[in-house]
Amino acid sequence: MLRLLLLLVLFACSSEKKSELREWLDTSDQIKVLSTTAMIDDMVKNIGGDQIKTIVLIQGDLDPHSYQLVKGDQEKLLSAQLVFANGLNLEHGPSLKNFFKTNSNVLFIGDYIQKVKPDAILKVNGETDPHIWMDISLWKEAIPQVVEALSRMKPEKKAEFEERGRKLALDYSEMHERIKKYLHEVPQEKRYLVTSHDAFNYFTRAYLAEESEIADNSWQKRFQAPEGLAPDSQLSLNDIRFIVEHLKKYNIAIIFPESNLSPDSLKKIIDAAKNENINVTLGNPYLYGDAMGPKGSDGDTYLKMIWHNAKTIKEDIGGSP
Ligand SMILES: [Zn+2]
Repeated sequence: MLRLLLLLVLFACSSEKKSELREWLDTSDQIKVLSTTAMIDDMVKNIGGDQIKTIVLIQGDLDPHSYQLVKGDQEKLLSAQLVFANGLNLEHGPSLKNFFKTNSNVLFIGDYIQKVKPDAILKVNGETDPHIWMDISLWKEAIPQVVEALSRMKPEKKAEFEERGRKLALDYSEMHERIKKYLHEVPQEKRYLVTSHDAFNYFTRAYLAEESEIADNSWQKRFQAPEGLAPDSQLSLNDIRFIVEHLKKYNIAIIFPESNLSPDSLKKIIDAAKNENINVTLGNPYLYGDAMGPKGSDGDTYLKMIWHNAKTIKEDIGGSP
């Protein structure tokens, strides 16, 4: 009986998804927009309102770094009137990258931000860090690009898009300042973050670092991740050793899993630390790194996702709710 119910639910979910896609494909009076990630989709939806119909290519907990096109994706990509991608080499799965190469109408949020604020873009071991959504003030810089692109498609609605863009920029600025203030209530000697992979450099610089550390670039000590820029749970003994030394040096007792990644690498670090009599625990709950939360969760919009991260970090490392 239970199995039958489960099957029915699964069937209902997949046919709901199918009809959503059908509806999107059949839209004729709204602009058909596809975004590679949910964070981009959230921004675009806020600006486009009911003038657009959107879908997300890399859905749920899937890893955007390594995402490869599956059956049906080509149809979606080719049917979209506008395609927004993160760029800065976030989406580096060969088939998706190849689509970008052969289609000149893809708009890259990250490349646009890099053009506007070249000095704000971070490099990690010589590679550009693509996780720009983690600093709301930086993410905000892409709003004009989205407004402009939508206005090109529907010039008669330009004023409407501009107005929503202005409002969204205000919301972004407000949340940015709020999180900065909120996390700076944590004593600076506790403001260190360790997560699964390198998704939180921008977050750390924006919300955990001291002004003087940003000026002399020493803020980077406040964030470490064993798995590098693109998640890869193949940790070497050296990787583990390095993080354990880092935990010791800065007295870090909590390390944070990410919602769409296995916590295995963090568990290895906890075990290695235990062997040296250092007590490290897993942060609870997880942080949202490369993926938003499912509908109905406290991470189902972009701003909720970042606020969830701030709140979790403060409650866990700051010790007070
Ligand atoms: Zn990532």
